[in-house]
Amino acid sequence: MKIARSARFAIGILALSFVAAACGGGEEKSASQSAADGKLTIGIKFDQPGLGLRNPDGTYSGFDVEVAKYVANELGVKPDGITFKEAPSAQRETLIQNGEVDYIVATYSITDTRKEKVGFAGPYFIAGQSLLVKADNTDISGPDSLNGGKKLCSVTGSTPAQNVKDKYAQDVQLQEFDTYSACVEALRNGAVDAVTTDDIILAGYAAQYPGQLKVVGQPFTTEKYGIGLAKDDSETRGKINDAIEKMISSGAWEAAFDNTVGPSGYQLPAPPTVDRY
Ligand code: GLU
Repeated sequence: MKIARSARFAIGILALSFVAAACGGGEEKSASQSAADGKLTIGIKFDQPGLGLRNPDGTYSGFDVEVAKYVANELGVKPDGITFKEAPSAQRETLIQNGEVDYIVATYSITDTRKEKVGFAGPYFIAGQSLLVKADNTDISGPDSLNGGKKLCSVTGSTPAQNVKDKYAQDVQLQEFDTYSACVEALRNGAVDAVTTDDIILAGYAAQYPGQLKVVGQPFTTEKYGIGLAKDDSETRGKINDAIEKMISSGAWEAAFDNTVGPSGYQLPAPPTVDRY
């Protein structure tokens, strides 16, 4: 049978796109399938002391790192099968949607807006938004005292930055950076008056610069930290929820907290209840 040249061309393109889809950067592979191969790529923060930190010697430490490793072990993956990848706040949904990470444990609040793009296991921790200022600051004590054009730093794509925009934007000069460590540098050199994000993150920076920085005010939001993964991967979501529950009930959750966040002086809260949906 004779096929017109244009039709042959179209078939060729079709065949090529099938091949491309089949090889499409691991997108088709669920986290459970990666785990079955003994490998996981996990998104964490690299610059948040006590939570997710890349140390100068190339090792990783922090509560999120411990949660990530515990969950990996429950999925059958040993530490040497894990590749940690930096997951800055604004890139988390994209990293998951592009299949560049199997899951993310990075102070990642569960929100309805994010749930339109990704799935969440957990929560495995509950924090609240607060403020970090210089230790000698006396005029900032809570979100309302930022009025009058105070310079406030937060991170692009984070819930605290969005919250400030929604509630306080008129009177505050919000500066957004890619990472909280960049905000902390700006605070230390006087370029901004305060940094805002979750209290547990700020406690880690305050502990890093003793006597120089302090966390002020009561937490003014509720941030439920989830483990982000592909939206439709309910199989892995269920397994991760099982792992979180086991981590909490076995005492490993509290031990991990004590060894990582504990030294900052941040008080151990009650563990959360996993929300299965
Ligand atoms: N938990 C908040 C969020 O997911 C702030 C911390 C962060 O940016 O990682 O946006």
